[in-house]
Amino acid sequence: MQASPLSKISLERREFLVKRDDLFDPFLSGNKYRKLHVLLNTPQNRYKKIISYGGTQSNAMLAIAAMCKQKKWKFVYYTKPVSSVQKEQTFGNFHQAKLLGMEHIELDTTLYKDYIASLDVIKEEDTYIIDQGGADESARQGLEVLAQEILAQDCGVTSLATPSGTGTTALFLALALPEYKVYTTPCIGDVAYLKEQMLSLANIPSNLIILEPTKKYHFAKLYPEFLAMYQKTKTAGVEFDLLYAPAMWLALLAQTEEKILYIHSGGVSGNESMLARYSQKFSR
Ligand SMILES: *Cc1c(COP(=O)(O)O)cnc(C)c1O
Repeated sequence: MQASPLSKISLERREFLVKRDDLFDPFLSGNKYRKLHVLLNTPQNRYKKIISYGGTQSNAMLAIAAMCKQKKWKFVYYTKPVSSVQKEQTFGNFHQAKLLGMEHIELDTTLYKDYIASLDVIKEEDTYIIDQGGADESARQGLEVLAQEILAQDCGVTSLATPSGTGTTALFLALALPEYKVYTTPCIGDVAYLKEQMLSLANIPSNLIILEPTKKYHFAKLYPEFLAMYQKTKTAGVEFDLLYAPAMWLALLAQTEEKILYIHSGGVSGNESMLARYSQKFSR
């Protein structure tokens, strides 16, 4: 596999480097690509079916759908009930994942949790279950590959940054590169919740620095400053996602000073539906 390239961007008179993990594939990219490294390198005949579950606009869902198409594995994805508006949408991650062959199963809200917990018990030998968002010990190897690429590219920068949902990416990256500082910020929940999620995977090393957001943001809600940050980075030459990256950039610009290598976490394919929501909400 080829290493992803680096781009330079300047923001507020500061220079940043960006590791372009968004460029691997339109649907299978960013940290989801890294997290699926082990499965992507598993022989096709080892599995027949992949099961996962979670939100309907999840980037992980779309990446798994793209992987399963490549691998000719059946992909079954469980969610809570989905609105008819969303089912009929002809753009966005959910639509795209179905085009890639994903079988979608809705579970009644009252059954959802217990059913998901039982998947592991009822699954067959040729089925692999990916936990929500790919927060899984098997993600570690793919992030070690990313760490090796960063070392080999030797760009002279010793601070990295990447935004967190489950924290899997930032945690495994920090563990693989103890000589680097790794900045992250919680985009789902607060700092305490992020730490709790990370601790379920491994101890948090001292080179991992969690920046506190300047304001309490709710995941997937719309904020004018997120849209402005998105536009600013896009004008500077790189498009980022609208769910995670804006919070990371806002925190970096306010709370750091040194030159940073930002690890692009992907998710750009979800922008079309996010931009549609932004224009609906703020054009009135
Ligand atoms: C999933 C995702 C994240 C969060 O990754 P974690 O490993 O769960 O912390 C960040 N950015 C984008 C674009 C994502 O799709």
